[in-house]
Amino acid sequence: MHISKKNNYLFNNVSTLSGVGKKLSTYLKNKKIEKINDLLWNLPYTYTDRSDLVTLDKLSIGKIQTTKVKVLKYNFPRIRNLPNRIRCEDDKGKIDLIFFNSREGYIKKILPLDEWVVVSGKITFFRNQYQITNPSYVEKLDRIDYVKKIIPKYSLTEGLTEKKYRKIIEQVLESLNDVDEWHDKKIIKKMRFSSWKESIISIHNKDNDDYHDSLHYKRLAYDEILSNLLVLSENRKKIKKIKKKPKIYQKLFAEKIIKSLPFKLTKSQLLVMDQINEDLESNKRMFRILQGDVGSGKTIVSLLSASNVIESGYQCALMAPTAILAKQHYELALKIFKGTGVKINFLTGKTINQDRKKILNDLENNKINFIIGTHSLFQKKILFKNLGFIIIDEQHKFGVKQRIDLAKKGGDECDVLLMSATPIPRTLILATYGDMDVSRITEKPYTRKVIKTLSKPEEKLYEIWPFIEKNMEARIQIFWVCPLINESKIFNYSSAKKKYEEINKRFPGRVALLHGSIEKDDKEKILNDFLNKKIDILVTTTVIEVGIDFPNANLIIIENSNKFGLAQLHQLRGRVGRGKIQGTCILLFKGKLSKNAIKRIKILKSTDDGFLIADEDLKLRGFGDILGFQQSGIKNFRLADPIHHEELFKLAENNIKDIDKQNISYDKFSFLLRLFDKAEVINEID
Ligand code: ADP
Ligand code: MG
Repeated sequence: MHISKKNNYLFNNVSTLSGVGKKLSTYLKNKKIEKINDLLWNLPYTYTDRSDLVTLDKLSIGKIQTTKVKVLKYNFPRIRNLPNRIRCEDDKGKIDLIFFNSREGYIKKILPLDEWVVVSGKITFFRNQYQITNPSYVEKLDRIDYVKKIIPKYSLTEGLTEKKYRKIIEQVLESLNDVDEWHDKKIIKKMRFSSWKESIISIHNKDNDDYHDSLHYKRLAYDEILSNLLVLSENRKKIKKIKKKPKIYQKLFAEKIIKSLPFKLTKSQLLVMDQINEDLESNKRMFRILQGDVGSGKTIVSLLSASNVIESGYQCALMAPTAILAKQHYELALKIFKGTGVKINFLTGKTINQDRKKILNDLENNKINFIIGTHSLFQKKILFKNLGFIIIDEQHKFGVKQRIDLAKKGGDECDVLLMSATPIPRTLILATYGDMDVSRITEKPYTRKVIKTLSKPEEKLYEIWPFIEKNMEARIQIFWVCPLINESKIFNYSSAKKKYEEINKRFPGRVALLHGSIEKDDKEKILNDFLNKKIDILVTTTVIEVGIDFPNANLIIIENSNKFGLAQLHQLRGRVGRGKIQGTCILLFKGKLSKNAIKRIKILKSTDDGFLIADEDLKLRGFGDILGFQQSGIKNFRLADPIHHEELFKLAENNIKDIDKQNISYDKFSFLLRLFDKAEVINEID
């Protein structure tokens, strides 16, 4: 072990710190601070300047100031709810300290009559008198240096005062020990990084304008990025070490299926097929992610791959996130495998017991070659005779942990293919999928028409009603997307419920409402009704983002479109125009658009390339503002930012390659991995 054990206290619960009792622990827990090291990443967002020590003739109203005063007189009113008022003075003037909700005994203790104290707080003026209400600090004179300072300000929850929090964080920072450097000397030198300890202490203390660009901050962000890559690389090595039997086939099913398709595969699809075939035929396990924009035709690629695996004598499983999507895949598979003799079945949580029993039995006896379904495919009770391939569609909710589980689950002979339509910005690819091989479908089917994208201020909605009505007459289906479910007093956004009522008045009986808090079964019924054209307009929140093919839906109207991320708008837009008819996307917006919003709409109108949109999207965001990405499941970093720290991501990518090439032991990084809570994940891999 290289690390000094002296810092191990950082992994204890915060309650082991002095002054942190049950109540404080709970407050901290609400801020997701449980272990002491969590405190290190809770960074100050600004600073309070209490260094200004003034006499009472130099007070400025509204400012935070620190002053030295003598206690003159108590005023403890006998009427409840009135504050206690303590008159104080210095040579130059007088001031009142006002205390709400504090007991006499306490005040007498901290403010003994005739004694000098140092107080700090915001200066106000009331009835011709300076005052400080609930001063942040009242201390004995020997503590003056403790108060008279620039003090970091943390975002705190109720019940946690600056003073209390300071006691905690200062205690932690003061007891930090030096550690053996885990980064390469050359990198430290090239980047001019300081030691870990110095960096931590500095970002908690210094008043620094370009905080996120400071070398101290960058060093810690680099720590975080590298710890992430170490985990992914470890998972990758583990998987690649496993030897499997190569799958042997002549693509007989695949060729037959390709011939029967009503379209030609795109170059991109063919290229990806080659990459997958190479994996299947090799003696290393496939662990691959297939990225492709919405509508790029990932499904057929996965089914063709499955056909090869089945031909080689193994069983396949395809898992989709929803029952409807699974059903769509199942029906497609039945169609294209027709006449091949391949036995396909369908399993969800809803499958009735009798059928389920038979399916489980058939899987165990190899009477089913291809099973398609939802999460329920991965229950422990489900045993396969010889599973050789797992396909997971729309996997964007899978983190590293789930991927590790997945790699273990299938057994050594099992190849794994994940599919995702979430375009990952270039900077984040390795930090997100470093454990996998990445395939990309970069072009859309030739037959697909580009979706027309327009934007309109909401007040001009009347201009498009005729267009909407024309679509209704032609029985072309419409999505109507709102950012919120319910009306909100805080946000002036459209709510799905209200919109539904409004539109249903116009087209009674032809409209349905769908949102996240509708029960799962009802949700599926609504989606099925829409799929079967029983309704024409679906008013919805973003729950429709994922995967389902509604070939007859060709118009999508998005309310408050500037409230959505670009990538998200692109995903939503991809819900239409999947059939032969021209698709249209109308972006509505309220009020005046910001410059940024105008740029975003322009990008969306000008391109249909999800990868490009993802990159642009990232550039338009502010520091750390990766909410949209968080939603789409992309790894969220606590310190590192994909745009701001792009060079650090690149550096880490090269660094991890060197670490692997030189076979450097991860022992060297064990403290780093624990700091970012990766140690447990690594343990799960082993
Ligand atoms: P996604 O990548 O979003 O999952 P799908 O696999 O659902 O896309 O494909 C969308 C539609 O495009 C399907 O109806 C599919 O049959 C069709 N499709 C797939 N590949 C091609 C192609 N090469 N040419 C024309 N249409 C295609
Ligand atoms: Mg799909």
